Amino acid sequence: MKEIISENIKQVHKNIQSACLRSNRSADEVTLIAVSKTKPIEDLWEAYNCGERNFGENKVQEILQKAPQLPENTIFHMIGHLQRNKVRQVLPHVAMIHSVDSVRLASEIQQEAHRIGKIVDILLEVNVAGEESKFGFSPENLMDGIRQISQFPNIHTCGLMTIAPFVENPEQNRPVFKKLFQLYVDINNKNIDNVSMSVLSMGMTGDYQVAVEEGATMIRVGTGIFGVR
Ligand SMILES: *Cc1c(COP(=O)(O)O)cnc(C)c1O
Repeated sequence: MKEIISENIKQVHKNIQSACLRSNRSADEVTLIAVSKTKPIEDLWEAYNCGERNFGENKVQEILQKAPQLPENTIFHMIGHLQRNKVRQVLPHVAMIHSVDSVRLASEIQQEAHRIGKIVDILLEVNVAGEESKFGFSPENLMDGIRQISQFPNIHTCGLMTIAPFVENPEQNRPVFKKLFQLYVDINNKNIDNVSMSVLSMGMTGDYQVAVEEGATMIRVGTGIFGVR
């Protein structure tokens, strides 16, 4: 397993490089988040020893269990749907919450962040393709959500995130990534206080190369690093 994880990581970085070359970007604009959900701590250590520092998890329990077992410079990202009653537990352990999908959740994060004297970096999740099964702001409601959340002093909105549909051919998701990039640019142009569009979290194992071509600054790769779950 060890060799496989390190080989996979090398391959992903190569693929990021190539996608950046194709789109005239610099590879250091793209942060790889190793999505380690369901995987044992040994696998995270393996990725850590290959130089990876950013890990993505979708369950609060798993973050609470894994975070204390890795060095302090390990960075955890909450990428899954977050329930309001879990905010308090997870806040001290994550650098960024990618999956803020409602003003109500943001309001809870504000309360807790204020309580512990922290400014929390968040991304707003956008359901670009309008899938029934997915969480997130619709593109139509996004601006209103951002304006409300920008009023929360302990929250810093850093960008947008999307989970693109599951598709056979990654090219099918190119329009989804283009749309999120466009929203990102439009919002940035509005110069809203407390909102800076600097992170665009999009692309997973099946489609991250297309996402990078379309401007992703964070990609979330699980299977492509750790193997099937
Ligand atoms: C599981 C997960 C990923 C990684 O998916 P892979 O297809 O295994 O790369 C990325 N983002 C989110 C939000 C996830 O839940």
